[in-house]
Amino acid sequence: MNRRKFLGYVGCGCCSLMLQSCTTAPITERKQLKLIPEASLNAKAAKIYEKIKNKEKLSDDQSMLNEIKEIGKRMEFSISNYFDKSNLADPTIGFDWEYILIDNDKIKNAWCMPGGKIAIYTGILKITKNTNGLASVMSHEIAHAVAKHSVERASRGVLIQTGTSIIDIFSGGVLSNINKSTGMDTVGLLSQIGIMNPFSRKQESEADYLGLIFSSLSGYDIRETVKIWERMKEATKGKKIPQFMSTHPSPDNRIKRISDWMNEIIIDYPPIKKNN
Ligand SMILES: [Zn+2]
Repeated sequence: MNRRKFLGYVGCGCCSLMLQSCTTAPITERKQLKLIPEASLNAKAAKIYEKIKNKEKLSDDQSMLNEIKEIGKRMEFSISNYFDKSNLADPTIGFDWEYILIDNDKIKNAWCMPGGKIAIYTGILKITKNTNGLASVMSHEIAHAVAKHSVERASRGVLIQTGTSIIDIFSGGVLSNINKSTGMDTVGLLSQIGIMNPFSRKQESEADYLGLIFSSLSGYDIRETVKIWERMKEATKGKKIPQFMSTHPSPDNRIKRISDWMNEIIIDYPPIKKNN
């Protein structure tokens, strides 16, 4: 079983401390602690997203933006459809999906805020290279949001720093020098929602695993995922390390795990046909 195979890799953390706040991640069924209400986190993310749209220069490359939206729409559909068909609660209910392409060739990054607010920077398009590559990166970022990793992270923050406000927890992460040197004037905004802080190792593996599933369900060739990480690794040899790599380290470990999971996922999660 895929789920067992996934848990075999990351181990099954148990949060016996507060059982009533313990839920499980979709598909992998990894246990998660959630003390922060998802709706309030999504609302906060939506506000920050609006500010970023005003601050950043949005690309006027409509065909590229359309491609991003097309990939996104296919993923939105296949994720909801998969959970509906499996008689499972759709984790994307309450999401208000949105996609922007930020015109900045220096920044090789992409992210998805809690609630489905997505940004792609033109700089990462040199690494994603093609539609399947772009789908790989987008599905990984979408997986972080679908698996509610930010809710989980914020909840852990509450446990560690009881009495601290949510904003303090989010801005408490130390920004790496890489992020500082990019000249992103939105760094402060992004750090408020935790986008500039790396997720945990388990969350990263889970996003890799679920990302492969979502890409496969949406009809993309997930074999490109390995090539993406190889290109990321190659890009770290340059002077400017991609921002994506500051929050997504260790491509070697990923490439091995992704290769191990790939064939099984292609067989178990075939493309869902969209009837229109
Ligand atoms: Zn990630």
